Amino acid sequence: MKHLILFGPPGSGKGTQAKQLEEKFGMIHISTGDLFRNEIGNNTPLGIEAKSFMNKGQLVPDSVTIGMLKNKVEMHPDVKGFIFDGFPRTIQQAEALDAFLKEREESISGLISLKVDDEEIVVRLLERGKTSGRADDSNEEVIRNRIKVYGEQTSPVYDYYDKKGKSQEILGVGTIDEIFNKLGDAVEKL
Ligand code: AMP
Repeated sequence: MKHLILFGPPGSGKGTQAKQLEEKFGMIHISTGDLFRNEIGNNTPLGIEAKSFMNKGQLVPDSVTIGMLKNKVEMHPDVKGFIFDGFPRTIQQAEALDAFLKEREESISGLISLKVDDEEIVVRLLERGKTSGRADDSNEEVIRNRIKVYGEQTSPVYDYYDKKGKSQEILGVGTIDEIFNKLGDAVEKL
């Protein structure tokens, strides 16, 4: 069982790359952002709660996010492994994930971070906002807040797994195929 955390700031290409990795390695891709958008689309109480945070570029509270993630994992008993995309985003989420996997006698195999600088992210997300229909992609102030939240609350998760010898970084700039080749090699070695 191989569990990967695909890490990096918003707009670093995690979703795009995760879809291709899922195909190549037969793993299951779980994006907490997609799960929340699905809840919003179905107008569920969880979606309504999440939306108010997402539209401001803030994190949805850990209590809500961790429960939702666990439910999703439990829906897939027979997997080769998961690609976690957009989760964990706080140290508390990372600790909860590790404890949850430990109960299953599993663990995170590695965290791979896609490195893209802030100004490139703003350009990419504003461009994506033209077609994604995502409120949080169309407003520069919200985008900059997401980058700030990433720096303050999420980037410590890299160090958390680095201390366990599990973190590595890949340059997230270039063509999708170039990045996928580097990423695929790194995943194979996990
Ligand atoms: P993403 O699609 O990963 O860019 O996530 C979009 C938004 O969903 C984020 O800006 C957060 O508001 C929320 N979100 C997604 N994943 C998480 C998470 N692991 N913890 C808290 N909020 C999250």
